[in-house]
Amino acid sequence: MAELQETEGIVISVRNYRENDRLVKIFTSQYGKRMFFIKGSRKPNNKLKTAILPFTNATYIADIRETGLCFIRDAKDLIHLNHLHTDIFLNAYATYVLNLADVALEDGVPDPTLFHTIQQILNEIDEGTDPEILVNIFEVQLLPYFGVAPEWRGCRVCGKTTGPFDYSGSYGGLLCQNHWDLDQHRYHASPRAIHFLRLFSVISMDQLGTISLKPETKREIRTVLDLIYDESVGIKLKSKRFIDQMYNWGNLLLDKKNDEPDKNK
Ligand SMILES: [Zn+2]
Repeated sequence: MAELQETEGIVISVRNYRENDRLVKIFTSQYGKRMFFIKGSRKPNNKLKTAILPFTNATYIADIRETGLCFIRDAKDLIHLNHLHTDIFLNAYATYVLNLADVALEDGVPDPTLFHTIQQILNEIDEGTDPEILVNIFEVQLLPYFGVAPEWRGCRVCGKTTGPFDYSGSYGGLLCQNHWDLDQHRYHASPRAIHFLRLFSVISMDQLGTISLKPETKREIRTVLDLIYDESVGIKLKSKRFIDQMYNWGNLLLDKKNDEPDKNK
């Protein structure tokens, strides 16, 4: 007889399988990322139907197996983040966060800290915190999972921690102005973007609501992160391409009069 476990989890992705069934990938707090087989879940009255909607956070009573598929027997304490389902933009950001986590996480490896971070990010997106900033923070904090661990504290060469910095892909981190000539392919990033990336690398999710950035700063941050992800991480997710498209539509419509200063206090 299988022994059942109880664990909190977040639904990462769902796909149909055979005529009546589904395969659901869930990031559980205690057992890491696992694939679950949910028999009969495409039938109208299946009791697990709402427990396996994307983005759902719940406590699952599950048969966790070390090899092959896992099974869910029941679920309780369901939390549905409704805006993520009804708003196409928020849906896109939340989907990207989960896709990125999916690529970063190894199957079956527990990571309660990251679990908690993702939980907070999805909640914040649902509650109306700027999703671009949330996604940027997540991208920065996820870099070590891809074997990219930039030194955000100071210059890669001399350790200097103040003054203007630029980012160097080949040095894998910051260079102070004295050492800019070491890398002619440095990113030529704006000091403001670097300032916020350094902040994002250490910020806790509880401080999120305190940051607001003007569109130009967000563009500068986006540019640096895209370079790091293209050069050093080397992944290009479909959900990210969709966000890039939305971003371009946004720029077409962008109201240029938005000159609110950046705030991070
Ligand atoms: Zn230096």
